[in-house]
Amino acid sequence: MRRILARAHADVLAQLAWANVLVALDFDGTLAPIVDDRDRAAMRPSTRALLAGVCALYPCAVISGRSRADVEARLGGVPVRYIVGNHGVEPSVGMERFEEVVRAMRERLEAAVGGIQGVEIEDKRFSLAVHFRRSRSATRARQAIEAAVSALPMKTRVIAGKRVVNVLPEGAPHKGIALEALQALSGADIALYVGDDVTDEDVFESERPGRLIGVRVGRRASSAASYYIDDQRQIDALLARLEGLRSTQAVASARRAST
Ligand SMILES: [Mg+2]
Repeated sequence: MRRILARAHADVLAQLAWANVLVALDFDGTLAPIVDDRDRAAMRPSTRALLAGVCALYPCAVISGRSRADVEARLGGVPVRYIVGNHGVEPSVGMERFEEVVRAMRERLEAAVGGIQGVEIEDKRFSLAVHFRRSRSATRARQAIEAAVSALPMKTRVIAGKRVVNVLPEGAPHKGIALEALQALSGADIALYVGDDVTDEDVFESERPGRLIGVRVGRRASSAASYYIDDQRQIDALLARLEGLRSTQAVASARRAST
């Protein structure tokens, strides 16, 4: 993994500024710091301003595990062109077919673990998030949730998070598929994707030179991402670099046009 903001790799972002690129970002842990209470997750004002600047210069996407409406409300009016929720499902072609199976999953999980202290099932229509942040015994809660999920009669895709177990119907598109669809939709030759979590590895694993560049928030040897930024605070520096590079490019081409 290479540090994308290092001087030695400055050409990577500089080349992107000249390319037909889609800038795509995860929300929690990437644009917004991770907080204990997920309902309070928000971008720093500096990040919000920088994202607005980048959105004015590049087509941008936010791809989150939250429901689409939830993440949209947290963007504070920044005109992000594409917003995808539910880990890549919302929107996607034929997503309606997952609604019924998610409802059935919720009913069964409510019956199995809904009564456990501190366990809360969030119904995001196309996926479920079973939270146990408020549980006094996290280990016991997680075990009970995992047992209930594996007892479900329908096939699922389970993504373990921090004090949450995400349950998706089998066959639901993941973030990598969502980004590919956005690239096709936007006609972008290349995408830059920034994310911090397990579900972002679905994007990083589909990295191809000249087509997709992955940046992980936090260096981790096991990640499939080629690049990293040190921590969530550095998202500001990354966005500022993108903004600065394309502004410079605009100045340069304006100069060329006038001579
Ligand atoms: Mg994240």
